[in-house]
Parts: sequence; structure tokens; C-alpha cells
Amino acid sequence: MTPDLIARLRRDTPACERIVHFNNAGSSLMPAPVYAMLVRALEAERDMGGYEAEAALAGPLAAFQANFAALLRVDPSEIAWVENATRAWDMAVYGLPLVPGDEVIVHISEYSSNYLGFLQLAKTKGIVLVPVPSDDSGQIDTAAMERAITPRTRVIALTHVPTQGGLVNPAAEVGRIARAHGVIYVLDACQSVGQMDVNVAEIGCDILSGTGRKFLRGPRGTGFLYVSRRILSSIHPPLIDLHAATWTGRDSYVLAPDARRFENFESFVAGRAALGEAVGYALEIGMPLIEARVTALAARLRDGLAAVPGVSLHDLGQRKCGIVTFAKHPMEAGAIRAALSARGINVSVSSHALLDFQARGITALVRASVHAFNTEDEVDRVVAEVAAL
Ligand SMILES: *Cc1c(COP(=O)(O)O)cnc(C)c1O
Repeated sequence: MTPDLIARLRRDTPACERIVHFNNAGSSLMPAPVYAMLVRALEAERDMGGYEAEAALAGPLAAFQANFAALLRVDPSEIAWVENATRAWDMAVYGLPLVPGDEVIVHISEYSSNYLGFLQLAKTKGIVLVPVPSDDSGQIDTAAMERAITPRTRVIALTHVPTQGGLVNPAAEVGRIARAHGVIYVLDACQSVGQMDVNVAEIGCDILSGTGRKFLRGPRGTGFLYVSRRILSSIHPPLIDLHAATWTGRDSYVLAPDARRFENFESFVAGRAALGEAVGYALEIGMPLIEARVTALAARLRDGLAAVPGVSLHDLGQRKCGIVTFAKHPMEAGAIRAALSARGINVSVSSHALLDFQARGITALVRASVHAFNTEDEVDRVVAEVAAL
């Protein structure tokens, strides 16, 4: 990334002047054009009325589907707007045609809400969860995964980048195996889309869920869902309304033929327009450039922290992303977060990873997550502050 482009990213992110924001995995900072779109949409609602504003914003709203399709290399008809990643995942997964005894392959890095969803489906539909181990690096062991496939395997679920660390699971390799065995592949890409160039055509997943506020830099309360045309018509969403379906008679209705079947009528229209703008912004900057910079800044942060006495790094996997997790003995993660916050540095604490953290004997970690608008100077400052604690 050229210095000019980095300067532009920072100009577009006014808070950079006051804070060091290393909490992009929690919720990032909206770039100026995204904020402008959000405000423009809200002003239109104030000045014209909500429905009239929606009609006036037809262009930006249509760009939501088109921009996500370009970002993920899929068809616009396969993209749904959903208010967050969890509900996006729910609308697809709870609608899968699963019957008692159907097996779902999961990895220990699965996001907690998804795992809870599967536990509920085990109770209500009798599905069977089949855990597969990690390899020596901590990523999903794809050979063990392939061996775990039986004639009853219906779904492979994977979290591309878990919330609790720098791990990047081998999503495309899992996709090749899922395809070869005709198993539905559900990918949680909540932490990968926006920091990495996520190419669905390469990964081969059937379902992909994500959120707006994290590395995509959209507003809160926004998310999206991709469902492949290969399986879309076989999924009956758990909830429908007059937007997702057409009422055709006393005993009949027809589901929308595209991903609209996962949406609902009333929604955060301004947020949807702003998230579409955020995707357009990322595409304009260029995902390969963003990915390279985020990866390099995180590597610098890990190198710096590794040299600090008392600091341990906890990122797993062969390939690591923009999320850096660490501890500093004997401090509590929460105390480190608070101390950094008092110095104008935003990080977060990871603690919602029951099985993964239990297996590693961890209760909480400090999570520092960088974005392309961050700088080497900020990384070095955070390392120095952690050293001084
Ligand atoms: C944040 C997160 C989610 C949930 O996203 P929401 O938009 O809060 O529902 C799902 N999966 C992963 C990996 C996450 O980090």
C-alpha cells in the first residue's frame, strides 16, 4: 500500500487523530463515505418519510447486493441483507432439511452462537454433532475431517477466522473435501470478510455469513448472508413474511426464488445503504492491498510483543491474520484492556470460546486487531505501552 493510500485511509477515518483503534475485530471505525451514506439516508427519512426515502435511495440499496456479489465473486441473487451475522447464519442453518441422525461436522474454533445453534438443533431435530480435531498448528485437521465423513454427514461447519485469535482455517481445502463428498459447507466468515480477500468461487462454500461492523467497517446492526443457488431452493427459512414469500391462496405461498427468502420486510434501511457503501469502499481500496497490510501490521505486532518480558502470544494456525491475542503475566486481561484504554488505545478481551479456551487452559486473552488505516508507529506504541504496564 502506498503512503498516499494510507494517508487517504487515515483522512477518511477522523478518529485516527485521537485514538489508536486496535479493536477492528470487535467493531471498526466507519470511513467518512460510509458515515456520509448513513447520515444521508437518515436525513432522507427525516425530510421525506421512510418509504419515500427508501425509493429515493434505490441506487445505493441495489448496490448492496451488487457490491457483495463483486466482493465474494457470487451472483447478486445469492446475497441477502440480514441485521447481523448470527441471524444470517440462523436463517440458513435452521432452514436446512435435516432429520434425526443427520451428522454435522464441527471444529473447536466454531463461534459460540453457532455452536449453541447446533446444540439447539441437536435437541429439537436430533442432529448429531461430530467434532474433528485440530492439527499440530491448531487449525482444523482436514485429513481427520475427511475421515469423519460418513453416509449420514449432511453439513460441515467452519469458522474461517475465529473471534478469539489470529487463526485462519484452511477454508478452501475444507471446501474441496465438502464438494467431493457432496456435503453442505457452512462458513462463518464474520472475521475474515473485510480483512482478507474472501473468494467464494475458490472456497466453494454453500452458505456464508458475515457482519457489517467488524473488518468491513459498516455501521452496527448490519450483516449479510450468501446462499449458493446450488442449495438455495432446498432451504426453507425458519421464519417468513410477505417479503420472503408471496401469499398465493388459502393454503399456499411461494418462497422468493432468490436469497430474499432469508430477509424480512422491515429493516434498518440506512444501515443497509451504508454497509453497501462500506463494501464499495473496500473494493475501491482493493482487498488484496488491505489483506497484505493487515497481515503485515499484525505480524509486526506479534514480533514486537514476543520480545516483551512476561508476554505470551496465543494465535494458532499455519496462517495468521489481523487478530493478535496475548497475555501478560501476571496481569488480568481486563486490567490490560483498561490500562491501554486509559492511554487512548482500544483493544478488547476474548473470553467467549468455551471449548477452545478450556482445551488450552485459558480463561481470557487480550485481543488486539489491526486494520489497514493503522500504522507501524501505532503498532510500536502499543508494544511500548504493553511493555510499560
Ligand atoms: C462477531 C462474530 C459473529 C457474530 O456476529 P454478529 O454480527 O454479532 O451476530 C459470528 N462469528 C464470528 C466468528 C464472530 O467473530
